[in-house]
Amino acid sequence: MTTAPLRLRLDGAALADNWRMLDRMSGRAACGAAVKADGYGLGAVGVVERLAAAGCCDFFVATWAEAMEIAPLGVTISVLHGVREADMATALASSNARPVLNTLAQVARWRAAGGGRCDVMVDTGMNRLGLSVADVAGGAVAGLQVETLMSHLACADEDDAMNARQLAAFASLKGVTDARRMSLANSAGIALGPDYHFDLTRPGLGLYGGVARSGLAGIRQVATPQAQIVQRRRVPMGETVGYNATYRATHDIDVAILNIGYADGYFRGFSGCGTVSAGGERLPLLGRVSMDLIAVDASSVPALGEGDWVDIAFALPIASAVSGMSQYELLTGLGRRIDRYWV
Ligand SMILES: *Cc1c(COP(=O)(O)O)cnc(C)c1O
Repeated sequence: MTTAPLRLRLDGAALADNWRMLDRMSGRAACGAAVKADGYGLGAVGVVERLAAAGCCDFFVATWAEAMEIAPLGVTISVLHGVREADMATALASSNARPVLNTLAQVARWRAAGGGRCDVMVDTGMNRLGLSVADVAGGAVAGLQVETLMSHLACADEDDAMNARQLAAFASLKGVTDARRMSLANSAGIALGPDYHFDLTRPGLGLYGGVARSGLAGIRQVATPQAQIVQRRRVPMGETVGYNATYRATHDIDVAILNIGYADGYFRGFSGCGTVSAGGERLPLLGRVSMDLIAVDASSVPALGEGDWVDIAFALPIASAVSGMSQYELLTGLGRRIDRYWV
C-alpha cells in the first residue's frame, strides 16, 4: 500500500495525559470519553485503545455504526442518539453498547423489547436531545434499568447564567429516578467546578487538545498535520502566488508548495494567516488555500526541498482564532486522505 504525502502525527502520551488531567479535575466522579465522529477525527479505535489503557471505562458515540466500530475492543459504550427501530437488532445483540434514550418513543421501543440496561438523556434547556425534566420526574423511565441519567450543557465554554439554571434543573432529579449514576459535564463543564461533576464526566474536545475555556490550561496538543513538499520554486519580485493572485511578492522569494488543502480539512480560513514549521523556522502561508495545496515562504530554510516534511501549526486554540473555524470543526474536518499515525 502506498503512503500518503500527508499525515497526522498523533501523540498518544498527550492524549492519555489529557484524560488523566480531566479525570483528576473530575474529582470523585469517573471520567469517560466522547469518541463520536471517529474520535473527533483522530481515529476512534486508536483513541479508545489508548484511553482504555489509561483507565477510562465509559465511551460515548453518536450512532450505532460508530459503536460497532469500537465494540470489538470490549469497552462500555453509550450511543448518544438513542435507538431507532432500524437499530434495535444491533442494540439488542450488543453486550457492551447501550442506547441513551432521548424521546418517549425511544423509551417505549426499548421497554417493549425488554432491552435491558440503557442511559437516559434529559433536556435541561438546550432544546436539543432528551426527555423533559417533567417527564422524567413524572416516572417516564421508571422500571427501566437506567445506568446513567445525563444532560448536556449549552454554554459550558462561557460564563453564562444558563449553566447554573441547567445545573439546578438537573440536580432536581437527584434521587428521583433509580439511575445508578448522573452525568452532566463535557470538557468545559468539568472546569465549571465540582457541582457540575455528579458521578461521571464526558469530555471530548479536551482529550484531543482543545481548550474550551479558562481552567484547562494544562491540556496538551495531540494532533499535528504534516505535509510533504511537492515542489520548491523561486518567485520573482512582482509575481503572484495561488488562486486569484492574492499574494504578490515584494522581493524575490522561495516558495514551498505543500500537499495539503481545504479538501483535507485545512480550511480556506487559513489563507494568508496559517503557518507551518520546518528546520526550526516558522514559515507563513502565502495566498489562498487550494483544494489540495498550499504555498509557504521557505526563503529562510534554504535546505528545505521536494519530498521534505513540514509540520502544520495546529495548536487548536490558536488555529481556531486564526482560521475562524471552531476547534471542533478543525479536528473533525481532518480528511480521509491523511495517514494517521501514533507516536
Ligand atoms: C460531544 C458531547 C460531549 C463531549 O463534549 P466536549 O465539548 O467535546 O467535551 C459530551 N456529552 C454529549 C452529550 C456530547 O454530545
